[in-house]
Amino acid sequence: MSTLDDIIKFTETLRDKLEPHWSSDLLYEKYVHILDAPKSAGYCGPSSVILWQELRKNFPSEQFSLAVGKVYKDSTELINGKHVWVVWHHKLKAASVIDITADQSSYFKEKVVVADIDLLAKEAVNYIPYQLARSIDEVDESPKKRAEILRMKTHLPKVRIDYAWLLSDAASVHLNEKLGDGTPLRSYEYYCDIAKKYSEWWEPEGEKILQALCEITGLEFYQNTIDVHVAPWFYAFSSPMALGVVFKEKDVLVNVLTHEIIHRLLTDNKSYDYGHDYVKLWRSMFGDGVTKNTLVHIPVHAVMKKLYVDYLKRPDLVALDKKSVAEYPDYAAAWEYVDEHGHEEIIAKLREDIGSVRS
Ligand SMILES: [Zn+2]
Repeated sequence: MSTLDDIIKFTETLRDKLEPHWSSDLLYEKYVHILDAPKSAGYCGPSSVILWQELRKNFPSEQFSLAVGKVYKDSTELINGKHVWVVWHHKLKAASVIDITADQSSYFKEKVVVADIDLLAKEAVNYIPYQLARSIDEVDESPKKRAEILRMKTHLPKVRIDYAWLLSDAASVHLNEKLGDGTPLRSYEYYCDIAKKYSEWWEPEGEKILQALCEITGLEFYQNTIDVHVAPWFYAFSSPMALGVVFKEKDVLVNVLTHEIIHRLLTDNKSYDYGHDYVKLWRSMFGDGVTKNTLVHIPVHAVMKKLYVDYLKRPDLVALDKKSVAEYPDYAAAWEYVDEHGHEEIIAKLREDIGSVRS
């Protein structure tokens, strides 16, 4: 395949990867939505910044710049207002336009256009840049920031919640015999429905929570899937991630799952080696005066508080968590520590170390 074919394929693949993560928080601030606007309208900035960065990384012998400008067919604007695309500079010929959101214009049928500027000009299609960036310092803050958010979204893991019938057969059956009152376990379908209900409760805010956790900690999940295994007679733990069948309300379920996912992010991420001694690390931050179980919950509760208060605007969930752990001294002590020392200060300590392990 030629470099041109490779670049077309690369751009199309990236477009497919980015498109599902477009959401209103990524729109250009001055973007005014018009009725029946194409799906890609308003997302050219962050998508093109990522495309440009990825092209430079994957095709290091080629020259690319990021263009901001207007697109015309004859003298009519093809795409309303400001548009962002990538320019591929050729050694001998002029250049090509690489437009990852070309479908903002009804003129193009394709989502992605990679075309020689001269050939486009023959059809009277002109991409006129008024700004061409060769390095990231030359790019405006707004698309850069929005590209960071979009990139983070593409790295978020998928949370899959399913009834773990193998686990249930291997363990729950025996737990039920030992701990139950003689009532047999419910049917396969019954537990599948519970897992489905959990998914429905998690889904609306799930991505927002995952994204906020990454922003708060500066960490990225190591794995791209979080499998949540639902089985009776378990309560909740994070590795492997398991949930019981006892959660009756949305807020309670979201809170418990968030707790476990914070454990996961703090201990299985792209900044620290697998098997890192976190207990030693957190001892050095939070001291020897607490039990191990309290120690590991100090960062969990600090991150949780920031998530609920600043991101979800749900301080009532802090109260809900405190109430739910009130009778468990180790967990209650972790909340006391967080309230006494301040969650921001605890997060700052975590981030300081994360910054120092990143090369
Ligand atoms: Zn925990």
